[in-house]
Amino acid sequence: MHFSKLRLTGFKSFVEPTELLIEEGLTGVVGPNGCGKSNLVEALRWVMGETSAKQMRGGGMEDVIFGGTEQRPARNMAEVGLYVANDDRRAPAQFNSADELEVVRRIEREKGSHYRVNGKDVRARDVQLLFADAATGARSAGLVSQGKIGSIVQAKASDRRALLEEAANIRGLHTRRHEAELRLRAAEQNLERLDDVLKALE
Ligand code: ATP
Repeated sequence: MHFSKLRLTGFKSFVEPTELLIEEGLTGVVGPNGCGKSNLVEALRWVMGETSAKQMRGGGMEDVIFGGTEQRPARNMAEVGLYVANDDRRAPAQFNSADELEVVRRIEREKGSHYRVNGKDVRARDVQLLFADAATGARSAGLVSQGKIGSIVQAKASDRRALLEEAANIRGLHTRRHEAELRLRAAEQNLERLDDVLKALE
């Protein structure tokens, strides 16, 4: 899955609309301390469905919205768009008719965030599965933040297994299995309730 462009508006320090073209091969982002390099990686994490404010170095999710400076007032909205090539048609069926997917996440103060893919509203889960199937995502080992190497070296066996599962491209299957198990349990409970009703009628 090739990411071709990242578009940010009002996200952390990127108050003005900003586009980052991601060419084939290696892309480097160079700049002085505090210019926003890590914020770009966080934008990637966020648009792929990150739900933890801590992972975004914030106290709450709304902290991703530009908080203002002495010269500029705070914004009420942040939006990140990620353009993903789908010419190999490997996206889940619901997205698979387009050559390119534009995945957009938008957050507004006091209204929470929502997602769109190619202009259509989708659930957070749809976006998370799209990236999990492509062996990437908000918690992907491909996104190496400061201190991550040390935490992997000291990780528990179960956390290391999660890394291997991502490399084997089966994270999406785990999510689907978990959902199938929940549905199965709900169906079993419905059957038990039905049994009770039938017994009461007998
Ligand atoms: P370093 O090289 O030191 O790791 P960096 O280039 O990775 O720095 P970032 O950590 O991405 O820089 O950016 C930090 C900057 O982003 C700080 O100036 C901080 O004030 C700004 N920033 C973070 N969140 C917000 C926000 N919600 N609103 C406005 N500015 C923000």
